[in-house]
Amino acid sequence: MTVFFYLIVALLGLLIGSFLNVCALRLASGMSIVRPPSHCPQCKTRLGPTQLIPLISYLMQKGRCKHCGTSISALYPVGEALTASLFVLMLWQHGLTPELAVALLFVSTLVVAFVADSALGLIPFRFVVPAIALVLGLRVWTDGLDVWQYAAAAVATYAVFFVIDWSRRKMARDDARAAFGGGDVMLFLFIAAALGLSLTLLTLFLASLLGLLFALVGFSLSPQDGRGAVRFAPAILPAAIVSYLWGETLLQWYFATFS
Ligand SMILES: [Zn+2]
Repeated sequence: MTVFFYLIVALLGLLIGSFLNVCALRLASGMSIVRPPSHCPQCKTRLGPTQLIPLISYLMQKGRCKHCGTSISALYPVGEALTASLFVLMLWQHGLTPELAVALLFVSTLVVAFVADSALGLIPFRFVVPAIALVLGLRVWTDGLDVWQYAAAAVATYAVFFVIDWSRRKMARDDARAAFGGGDVMLFLFIAAALGLSLTLLTLFLASLLGLLFALVGFSLSPQDGRGAVRFAPAILPAAIVSYLWGETLLQWYFATFS
């Protein structure tokens, strides 16, 4: 594969990343994706074509609105750069195969969850639920009749969360706010539909470790709000990518070493 082809995919990633940012922020706040057109949330000025170029616009305007000077969330360039780099990583790992379609949908959904959860503490059902249907459709293409394994994995994952939630309510005897919101569970159903059961459990394990690490770092940096809302999606994204690309190897190594 030529460098030129990687560049095309990186550019495509920037454009799609820009669209995913809009999906994440608008769908999670219950807005339409298409209306109104992109505008500054502060002064409502509609953005012109030069202000809609992914990454470049943000750097040129030094992260501020051209009209009113309000600072623009750094999540926009982060979402765009993240999508572009994950697209390139997936092309490198899978080449031009049917699996690449699953991989691109996989990273896109993770980016939407990451951006929406970081900005608003929510993961938009209106993106993740159609993504579950779409990834199962793609699994019919890549795996034929074996798609039942992925569907069963999603059902089993739901059962795992149902039991965790049920026992937590039993023990806490109240609706204590937990790190697992409804959106996190939906995101794990998506991961199960894409990766199957064992890699989903590995993702859950790695994400819990990372989430704990993030919480500890957050708590030591600012002890007063350390008990506030714990965002889980930033930990799910790297955990899911590692499980997807290197999970089989990790599990093989684990069972060879400890059994
Ligand atoms: Zn403005």
